[in-house]
Amino acid sequence: MSEGDLAGISSMNFETSDEQSLILKQVDRACKELRPVEDKFYLSHKYNDQTNGILGQAHVLGMPISSDYGDGQGVDLLTYALALERLGREGGGVRTFVSVQTSLTMMPIERWGTPEQKSRYLEPGTKGEKLYAFGLTEPGAGSDPSSMRTDFEERGGNFVLNGQKTWISNGSVAHTVIVFARPKSPSGGAGGICAFLVDRDSEGFPSRTSWGSSPLTPVRSTLTTASCRRTASSGRAGRAFRWHTAH
Ligand SMILES: Cc1cc2nc3c(=O)[nH]c(=O)nc-3n(C[C@H](O)[C@H](O)[C@H](O)COP(=O)(O)OP(=O)(O)OC[C@H]3O[C@@H](n4cnc5c(N)ncnc54)[C@H](O)[C@@H]3O)c2cc1C
Repeated sequence: MSEGDLAGISSMNFETSDEQSLILKQVDRACKELRPVEDKFYLSHKYNDQTNGILGQAHVLGMPISSDYGDGQGVDLLTYALALERLGREGGGVRTFVSVQTSLTMMPIERWGTPEQKSRYLEPGTKGEKLYAFGLTEPGAGSDPSSMRTDFEERGGNFVLNGQKTWISNGSVAHTVIVFARPKSPSGGAGGICAFLVDRDSEGFPSRTSWGSSPLTPVRSTLTTASCRRTASSGRAGRAFRWHTAH
């Protein structure tokens, strides 16, 4: 590499704008408030049930979500990434809690959800009143989620899901989990995979869940059956795998 090539690198701008600095100061204040609470719960091996309240009040959970919904702040992705970097200093569990709640679940709902789903899930999610998780990985399907075995079928106007999921962060506390499943009668490859918004109070969910003392660390959840109400479709059936990989 010549010196000329390196000249461009040295001119990269790592400064934050005034607006970004204000937002990051707000995140920093929330982290300082969270630190002693997180320490206390972590050391006593108990679930820290105050994280969502503290971060919700500091407007952290709705950062990348449009201000049309609840406490959405509409910040750009770079600022959101910088905020996650700061949150990560409080521990991987705290950062994972936030990124799963926002970019893994609320962002797809905002992008692909129906108007009903958006108002139902984004309003309380941005305020930390409802918690969400993302159920893709299975004991036998990690790096290659297209080999997932969880399936779904339509029965009496509902969808019935059967299968096992594992490593689902926030899984022990989530009110709703986005669960990926393939049609029971296979339509080939990853083509038929759909994503379902499964509420915790759905029949049969979770039939068995085991987790560590803190839900801020990933949990192992077993989903054997769950049914979910059929609502207006948020996209063409079978496109979920495409949006998962795009995400
Ligand atoms: C902290 C944490 C949080 C998580 N949270 C969630 C969550 O919220 N929701 C969710 O759905 N999942 C979650 N996961 C699961 C995560 O997405 C999977 O662990 C990941 O997809 C890898 O799958 P695996 O662990 O089964 O590893 P495997 O797929 O068994 O892979 C093991 C190793 O083999 C390598 N490997 C695999 N295939 C190939 C190949 N073809 N060529 C070369 N190398 C290969 C991999 O790189 C890896 O090093 C979480 C995992 C962790 C660790």
